[in-house]
Amino acid sequence: MLAELLDIFFPPVCPLCEGGIAEGLFCKACSEGLSSQKILGPKCGVCGTPFVSASSPDHTCGVCQTQKMPFVNFRSALAYNGAVVEAIHSFKYGGKVILGRPLGQLLAESINLPVTPDLIIPVPLHKKRLRTRGFNQALLLAREVSRRLGARVDYTNLKRLKNTAQQVKLKTDERRENVKGAFALKRPGDVKGRAVLLIDDVYTTGATMMECSKVLKKAGAEVHALTLARTVKV
Ligand SMILES: [Zn+2]
Ligand SMILES: [Zn+2]
Repeated sequence: MLAELLDIFFPPVCPLCEGGIAEGLFCKACSEGLSSQKILGPKCGVCGTPFVSASSPDHTCGVCQTQKMPFVNFRSALAYNGAVVEAIHSFKYGGKVILGRPLGQLLAESINLPVTPDLIIPVPLHKKRLRTRGFNQALLLAREVSRRLGARVDYTNLKRLKNTAQQVKLKTDERRENVKGAFALKRPGDVKGRAVLLIDDVYTTGATMMECSKVLKKAGAEVHALTLARTVKV
């Protein structure tokens, strides 16, 4: 009753474009824009890279056949293109914290993990960055996934020690160098022998995700990695 009355006086607005919403998390246009970027086709069973040919079944890609990945598997819900770029930009840099919930729900709906994680760990921000941004986007996404999976979020164990230069501005090899030794666990014993779901907003070159996964794996965790979006070669 109260919810219905509120809807009459304050009709729900789309958190992305502020247009009206009839149903769902976003308005029809934004919803379609985001859904059109869903990663659905065949992909590598380990790193999640989508294959160009839509007819080939899921298999292990060339990279994962030759290199040992620090995670058991890595998945992303959306391709980092079009409406997804806009949404993530206004969430992270435009101060639209309100987007955390619907984007997190979108991520939570899309996951299909082989195991239920014991713990969910968001990729941390350095405390200086956290102070300027005011929130950690990965933690807001992790909270929605936690609601869905029923696994606890631990955002105090994994720490970012170095206030690294923003990855966006760097080339691939510079990114890898930039994050080397940037992360550490305060309580490594907490992740030992545990299935950990590591969450971030975007995967571009993978440098951050790889580095965090390595730290967790070294402490004895079984790492499953998840991001809302990833860059996809077209
Ligand atoms: Zn909209
Ligand atoms: Zn792969």
